[in-house]
This record gives sequence, C-alpha cells and structure tokens, in this order.
Amino acid sequence: MATVKVHDKYKWKWYQKFYFISITSGMLVTLKYFLKCAILRQQATVQYPEEQRGYSSRFRGRHRLKRDEKGRERCTACFCCMWVCPAKCIHIEAALVPPEKANLYPEDKYAKVFNVDHLRCIFCGLCEEACPKGAIYLDGDIPKPFDNRDDFLSTKDTMLDKEGGPIIGTRL
Ligand code: SF4
Ligand code: SF4
Repeated sequence: MATVKVHDKYKWKWYQKFYFISITSGMLVTLKYFLKCAILRQQATVQYPEEQRGYSSRFRGRHRLKRDEKGRERCTACFCCMWVCPAKCIHIEAALVPPEKANLYPEDKYAKVFNVDHLRCIFCGLCEEACPKGAIYLDGDIPKPFDNRDDFLSTKDTMLDKEGGPIIGTRL
C-alpha cells in the first residue's frame, strides 16, 4: 500500500512565499492613513450624525410612483418590476378597478398594494428600467437611517405622487 506523506502534500510551493508582498503593501496603506491622521491632522471620519457627508450625485433616491398628465396612477399592476427585482423586495397585489373609479386609472387593473422593502433593496434601478408605463422612478428622497424596521417599508401611500403634484419622470 502506498504511503502518503502528509507534510509533503501541504508543503508551501515556492511561489506562495511571495505573500509578504501583499501583506507589506496592505500595511503601507494603513501606515499612510495613520500618518495622514497623526501628522497632517486629516480626519478619517466625521462626527455622525452632527456632521454628514454629502451623497454622490449619482446616488439613487427612494422609489416614487408617478401619475400621468390626467392625474391617473400610471401603474397598471403588470408585475414586471416585481419579477425583475433581483432582491425580491417589491410586493404588489392587483385588483380590478371599480366602475365608479374608472376615471382614476388608465386601465382596468391597478395596484391595490404596492410595497418596497428598503432593507432588501439594492437600488439597482432595474424596476425603473423594466416598467413599461414609466410608473416607477428612483428619484425620491435619500433613504435615512431608522430605528424601526417598519419604517423601511415604503407603501403605495408614501410613494405615490400627490394629486396635482409635479409630474416628474416623463419617459412616456
Ligand atoms: S432598485 Fe433594484 S432592488 Fe430595489 S426594488 Fe428596484 S429592482 Fe428591486
Ligand atoms: S410600476 Fe410599472 S412595472 Fe411595476 S407593476 Fe406598475 S406598471 Fe408594472
């Protein structure tokens, strides 16, 4: 029976001994920031929440649901945004539009429930791209920290543009 020399099998290869180059470059980065703080007195962080850093101009805001030029909700509950969402954080429940409210919606179906869980959302913008009606945009306010999980759930009431409000997002 062949004998396996365990210590040979796990012996370092010669090229693996160059690990110290990566460790040294990492330590130099740490040293650079240490010297910046210690000698140049450059702050590495800010006193949050009294001081706050600005967001990038490319940072997407929270979702908003749009109305059309007649004030009707653009969303027709087609579920495209819900299916495309990689984080599975959109929850929609569709309902038929009652005849007496037909003037409030462009089609015969509307989103009775439309929730977005901002604890799961990664702000990729795919829902905005997938929407065939130009109904959802990530142009709302910047999400703030909350101390309650429920506050991270945006409902239709909080996302839908107020009637007569500005119609932003004119992709259609
Ligand atoms: S931005 Fe991305 S992760 Fe967030 S709800 Fe839209 S598709 Fe989902
Ligand atoms: S927001 Fe757009 S994609 Fe999402 S359900 Fe409504 S119409 Fe469909």
